[in-house]
Amino acid sequence: MAHIDLATSAADLRTRLERARKDHQAENPHLILQTNSPTLCNPQCPICNGTGYVRRNPNACVGDADFGKIDLCPNARRLAFTNKIARGEIDPRIGLTSFEIQSLRWELIQDGLSDGHKARQAVQTAYQNGHGIVSLLGKSGQAKTLALKIAVAVALNDGKCAAYANMLSVLDDIRLAFDERENKQTELVRRMQWWISRDVLALDEIDKTNSTDWAKERMFQLIDVRYQRAIRREAITIIAANYESPDEISAYLRSRIEDNRFVENGLVVYLNGPDGRKAVPIGWRY
Ligand SMILES: [Zn+2]
Repeated sequence: MAHIDLATSAADLRTRLERARKDHQAENPHLILQTNSPTLCNPQCPICNGTGYVRRNPNACVGDADFGKIDLCPNARRLAFTNKIARGEIDPRIGLTSFEIQSLRWELIQDGLSDGHKARQAVQTAYQNGHGIVSLLGKSGQAKTLALKIAVAVALNDGKCAAYANMLSVLDDIRLAFDERENKQTELVRRMQWWISRDVLALDEIDKTNSTDWAKERMFQLIDVRYQRAIRREAITIIAANYESPDEISAYLRSRIEDNRFVENGLVVYLNGPDGRKAVPIGWRY
Protein backbone atom coordinates (compact mmCIF):
# COMPACT_ATOMS: atom_id res chain seq x y z
CA MET A 1 0.00 0.00 0.00
CA ALA A 2 1.34 3.42 -0.96
CA HIS A 3 2.32 5.71 1.88
CA ILE A 4 0.16 8.83 1.62
CA ASP A 5 0.80 11.78 3.89
CA LEU A 6 -2.47 13.55 4.60
CA ALA A 7 -0.78 16.63 6.06
CA THR A 8 -1.13 18.55 2.83
CA SER A 9 -0.66 22.06 4.11
CA ALA A 10 1.33 23.86 6.76
CA ALA A 11 -1.96 25.13 8.26
CA ASP A 12 -3.22 21.57 8.56
CA LEU A 13 -0.01 20.50 10.30
CA ARG A 14 -0.23 23.45 12.70
CA THR A 15 -3.81 22.51 13.60
CA ARG A 16 -2.73 18.94 14.27
CA LEU A 17 0.21 20.03 16.39
CA GLU A 18 -2.03 22.30 18.45
CA ARG A 19 -4.57 19.48 18.93
CA ALA A 20 -1.80 17.09 20.00
CA ARG A 21 -0.50 19.68 22.45
CA LYS A 22 -3.96 20.15 24.01
CA ASP A 23 -4.57 16.40 24.20
CA HIS A 24 -1.18 15.88 25.80
CA GLN A 25 -1.78 18.62 28.33
CA ALA A 26 -5.25 17.25 29.20
CA GLU A 27 -3.72 13.80 29.80
CA ASN A 28 -0.77 15.22 31.75
CA PRO A 29 -2.04 18.13 33.84
CA HIS A 30 1.15 18.04 35.94
CA LEU A 31 3.01 19.45 32.96
CA ILE A 32 2.34 23.09 32.32
CA LEU A 33 3.58 24.14 28.91
CA GLN A 34 3.93 27.70 27.79
CA THR A 35 1.62 28.07 24.78
CA ASN A 36 3.23 31.33 23.75
CA SER A 37 6.84 30.12 24.03
CA PRO A 38 8.65 30.24 20.66
CA THR A 39 9.85 26.63 21.00
CA LEU A 40 8.77 23.80 23.27
CA CYS A 41 12.15 22.11 23.22
CA ASN A 42 15.82 22.94 23.01
CA PRO A 43 16.40 24.34 19.48
CA GLN A 44 19.36 21.91 19.16
CA CYS A 45 17.33 18.88 20.30
CA PRO A 46 18.47 15.88 18.23
CA ILE A 47 15.06 14.23 18.55
CA CYS A 48 12.69 17.01 17.44
CA ASN A 49 14.96 19.82 16.19
CA GLY A 50 13.26 22.17 18.62
CA THR A 51 9.66 21.70 17.40
CA GLY A 52 8.78 19.89 20.64
CA TYR A 53 6.92 17.09 18.83
CA VAL A 54 7.74 13.76 17.26
CA ARG A 55 5.68 11.42 15.12
CA ARG A 56 4.52 8.47 17.20
CA ASN A 57 5.28 6.07 14.37
CA PRO A 58 7.02 7.53 11.31
CA ASN A 59 6.32 4.32 9.37
CA ALA A 60 2.56 4.31 9.99
CA CYS A 61 0.40 4.14 6.86
CA VAL A 62 -3.09 5.51 6.26
CA GLY A 63 -5.52 3.42 8.29
CA ASP A 64 -2.95 2.47 10.98
CA ALA A 65 -3.98 3.51 14.50
CA ASP A 66 -0.81 5.59 14.89
CA PHE A 67 -1.11 7.36 11.54
CA GLY A 68 -0.89 11.14 11.98
CA LYS A 69 -0.38 10.82 15.76
CA ILE A 70 2.14 13.15 17.33
CA ASP A 71 3.75 12.91 20.77
CA LEU A 72 5.59 15.44 22.86
CA CYS A 73 9.37 15.04 22.51
CA PRO A 74 10.83 13.36 25.65
CA ASN A 75 13.34 16.20 26.00
CA ALA A 76 10.49 18.73 25.82
CA ARG A 77 8.74 16.86 28.66
CA ARG A 78 11.86 17.10 30.79
CA LEU A 79 12.29 20.78 29.95
CA ALA A 80 8.65 21.53 30.84
CA PHE A 81 9.09 19.73 34.14
CA THR A 82 12.35 21.52 34.96
CA ASN A 83 10.65 24.86 34.20
CA LYS A 84 7.80 23.91 36.48
CA ILE A 85 10.24 23.16 39.30
CA ALA A 86 11.96 26.50 38.69
CA ARG A 87 8.60 28.30 38.94
CA GLY A 88 7.78 26.51 42.20
CA GLU A 89 4.70 24.89 40.66
CA ILE A 90 5.20 21.34 41.90
CA ASP A 91 2.03 19.76 43.26
CA PRO A 92 2.90 19.13 46.93
CA ARG A 93 1.22 15.71 46.68
CA ILE A 94 4.17 14.59 44.52
CA GLY A 95 5.89 14.19 47.88
CA LEU A 96 9.48 15.06 46.86
CA THR A 97 11.38 18.33 47.12
CA SER A 98 12.73 19.83 43.91
CA PHE A 99 16.23 18.93 45.14
CA GLU A 100 15.18 15.29 45.49
CA ILE A 101 13.54 15.28 42.05
CA GLN A 102 16.70 16.60 40.46
CA SER A 103 19.24 14.52 42.36
CA LEU A 104 17.80 11.11 43.30
CA ARG A 105 19.19 8.35 41.06
CA TRP A 106 19.38 4.54 41.29
CA GLU A 107 23.16 4.63 41.89
CA LEU A 108 22.58 6.18 45.33
CA ILE A 109 21.62 2.77 46.69
CA GLN A 110 24.95 1.13 47.21
CA ASP A 111 25.63 -2.58 47.49
CA GLY A 112 26.71 -3.87 50.85
CA LEU A 113 25.22 -1.32 53.24
CA SER A 114 22.02 -3.30 53.81
CA ASP A 115 19.58 -5.34 51.73
CA GLY A 116 18.87 -2.08 49.86
CA HIS A 117 20.26 -3.44 46.58
CA LYS A 118 17.47 -6.06 46.58
CA ALA A 119 14.95 -3.24 46.92
CA ARG A 120 16.62 -1.33 44.08
CA GLN A 121 16.62 -4.41 41.85
CA ALA A 122 12.91 -5.14 42.37
CA VAL A 123 11.88 -1.52 41.83
CA GLN A 124 14.08 -1.14 38.75
CA THR A 125 12.68 -4.36 37.25
CA ALA A 126 9.11 -3.09 37.60
CA TYR A 127 10.11 0.31 36.29
CA GLN A 128 11.68 -1.21 33.20
CA ASN A 129 8.60 -3.41 32.66
CA GLY A 130 6.38 -0.36 33.07
CA HIS A 131 3.86 -2.10 35.32
CA GLY A 132 3.42 -4.19 38.44
CA ILE A 133 3.16 -4.01 42.20
CA VAL A 134 6.46 -4.06 44.06
CA SER A 135 6.35 -4.88 47.76
CA LEU A 136 9.33 -3.98 49.92
CA LEU A 137 8.78 -5.63 53.27
CA GLY A 138 10.96 -6.01 56.31
CA LYS A 139 12.67 -4.17 59.10
CA SER A 140 13.85 -0.57 58.91
CA GLY A 141 17.25 0.58 57.61
CA GLN A 142 16.93 -1.27 54.28
CA ALA A 143 16.71 1.81 52.02
CA LYS A 144 13.02 1.14 51.36
CA THR A 145 12.06 4.80 51.50
CA LEU A 146 15.05 5.76 49.38
CA ALA A 147 14.12 3.18 46.71
CA LEU A 148 10.53 4.52 46.65
CA LYS A 149 11.67 8.12 46.32
CA ILE A 150 14.23 7.32 43.61
CA ALA A 151 11.58 5.54 41.51
CA VAL A 152 9.32 8.59 41.75
CA ALA A 153 12.14 11.04 40.95
CA VAL A 154 13.24 8.97 37.94
CA ALA A 155 9.62 8.71 36.72
CA LEU A 156 9.04 12.46 37.06
CA ASN A 157 12.22 13.16 35.13
CA ASP A 158 10.99 10.76 32.44
CA GLY A 159 7.83 12.86 32.10
CA LYS A 160 5.53 10.41 33.91
CA CYS A 161 2.92 11.22 36.58
CA ALA A 162 4.31 9.99 39.87
CA ALA A 163 3.98 10.55 43.60
CA TYR A 164 5.56 9.40 46.85
CA ALA A 165 3.56 9.47 50.10
CA ASN A 166 3.06 7.78 53.41
CA MET A 167 -0.20 5.86 53.33
CA LEU A 168 -1.41 7.96 56.23
CA SER A 169 -1.02 11.23 54.31
CA VAL A 170 -2.81 9.78 51.30
CA LEU A 171 -5.73 8.93 53.57
CA ASP A 172 -5.55 12.42 55.11
CA ASP A 173 -5.71 13.96 51.65
CA ILE A 174 -8.74 11.87 50.71
CA ARG A 175 -10.38 12.56 54.06
CA LEU A 176 -10.27 16.32 53.35
CA ALA A 177 -13.10 15.67 50.91
CA PHE A 178 -15.39 15.17 53.89
CA ASP A 179 -14.82 18.72 55.08
CA GLU A 180 -16.32 20.15 51.92
CA ARG A 181 -19.93 21.19 52.41
CA GLU A 182 -21.02 20.55 48.86
CA ASN A 183 -20.23 17.94 46.26
CA LYS A 184 -18.73 15.67 48.91
CA GLN A 185 -18.92 12.60 46.74
CA THR A 186 -17.53 14.37 43.68
CA GLU A 187 -14.60 15.71 45.69
CA LEU A 188 -13.89 12.29 47.21
CA VAL A 189 -13.87 10.68 43.77
CA ARG A 190 -11.67 13.46 42.41
CA ARG A 191 -9.12 13.06 45.18
CA MET A 192 -9.07 9.27 44.91
CA GLN A 193 -8.64 9.63 41.17
CA TRP A 194 -5.49 11.72 41.58
CA TRP A 195 -3.75 8.90 43.46
CA ILE A 196 -5.20 6.18 41.24
CA SER A 197 -4.10 7.87 38.03
CA ARG A 198 -0.36 8.17 38.80
CA ASP A 199 1.84 6.15 36.40
CA VAL A 200 4.09 5.44 39.37
CA LEU A 201 2.73 5.57 42.92
CA ALA A 202 5.00 4.88 45.89
CA LEU A 203 3.17 4.22 49.15
CA ASP A 204 5.40 4.17 52.22
CA GLU A 205 4.58 2.81 55.70
CA ILE A 206 1.37 1.12 54.68
CA ASP A 207 1.53 -0.69 58.05
CA LYS A 208 1.19 2.61 59.92
CA THR A 209 -2.34 3.66 58.95
CA ASN A 210 -5.00 4.10 61.58
CA SER A 211 -7.36 1.23 61.91
CA THR A 212 -10.76 2.88 61.48
CA ASP A 213 -13.10 1.08 59.10
CA TRP A 214 -13.19 4.18 56.92
CA ALA A 215 -9.38 4.24 56.56
CA LYS A 216 -9.18 0.50 55.91
CA GLU A 217 -11.90 0.74 53.29
CA ARG A 218 -10.23 3.62 51.41
CA MET A 219 -6.83 1.93 51.53
CA PHE A 220 -8.35 -1.29 50.24
CA GLN A 221 -10.12 0.62 47.46
CA LEU A 222 -6.94 2.43 46.38
CA ILE A 223 -4.71 -0.65 46.45
CA ASP A 224 -7.33 -2.72 44.67
CA VAL A 225 -7.61 -0.26 41.78
CA ARG A 226 -3.81 0.05 41.62
CA TYR A 227 -3.66 -3.78 41.54
CA GLN A 228 -6.07 -3.88 38.62
CA ARG A 229 -4.03 -1.25 36.77
CA ALA A 230 -0.87 -3.30 37.38
CA ILE A 231 -2.54 -6.40 35.96
CA ARG A 232 -3.68 -4.39 32.92
CA ARG A 233 -0.01 -3.37 32.53
CA GLU A 234 -0.86 0.31 32.95
CA ALA A 235 0.86 1.44 36.14
CA ILE A 236 3.43 0.70 38.82
CA THR A 237 2.68 0.73 42.53
CA ILE A 238 5.49 0.35 45.01
CA ILE A 239 4.58 -0.28 48.61
CA ALA A 240 6.82 -0.42 51.65
CA ALA A 241 6.00 -1.70 55.12
CA ASN A 242 7.86 -2.81 58.20
CA TYR A 243 6.33 -6.29 58.13
CA GLU A 244 8.90 -8.91 59.01
CA SER A 245 6.71 -11.89 58.17
CA PRO A 246 3.96 -12.44 55.59
CA ASP A 247 1.63 -13.36 58.47
CA GLU A 248 1.52 -9.71 59.57
CA ILE A 249 -0.04 -8.63 56.29
CA SER A 250 -3.82 -8.41 56.15
CA ALA A 251 -5.43 -11.05 53.94
CA TYR A 252 -6.88 -8.67 51.32
CA LEU A 253 -3.50 -7.04 50.77
CA ARG A 254 -1.56 -10.29 50.79
CA SER A 255 -3.75 -11.87 48.11
CA ARG A 256 -2.96 -8.96 45.79
CA ILE A 257 0.74 -8.40 46.41
CA GLU A 258 1.44 -12.14 46.35
CA ASP A 259 -0.18 -12.51 42.94
CA ASN A 260 2.05 -14.99 41.05
CA ARG A 261 2.68 -12.48 38.30
CA PHE A 262 4.49 -10.26 40.81
CA VAL A 263 6.14 -12.99 42.90
CA GLU A 264 7.58 -14.75 39.82
CA ASN A 265 9.06 -11.47 38.61
CA GLY A 266 10.82 -10.93 41.94
CA LEU A 267 8.63 -8.00 42.91
CA VAL A 268 7.92 -9.17 46.47
CA VAL A 269 11.04 -8.68 48.55
CA TYR A 270 11.71 -9.34 52.22
CA LEU A 271 14.62 -7.23 53.37
CA ASN A 272 16.44 -8.47 56.43
CA GLY A 273 20.00 -7.25 55.99
CA PRO A 274 22.00 -5.25 58.55
CA ASP A 275 20.68 -1.77 59.33
CA GLY A 276 22.15 0.44 56.61
CA ARG A 277 21.57 3.54 58.74
CA LYS A 278 24.37 2.40 61.03
CA ALA A 279 26.78 2.34 58.07
CA VAL A 280 25.83 5.57 56.35
CA PRO A 281 28.87 7.40 54.97
CA ILE A 282 29.62 10.92 56.21
CA GLY A 283 27.85 13.50 54.06
CA TRP A 284 25.09 11.06 53.00
CA ARG A 285 22.02 13.23 52.53
CA TYR A 286 19.12 10.78 52.22
ZN1 LIG B 1 13.04 17.76 21.52
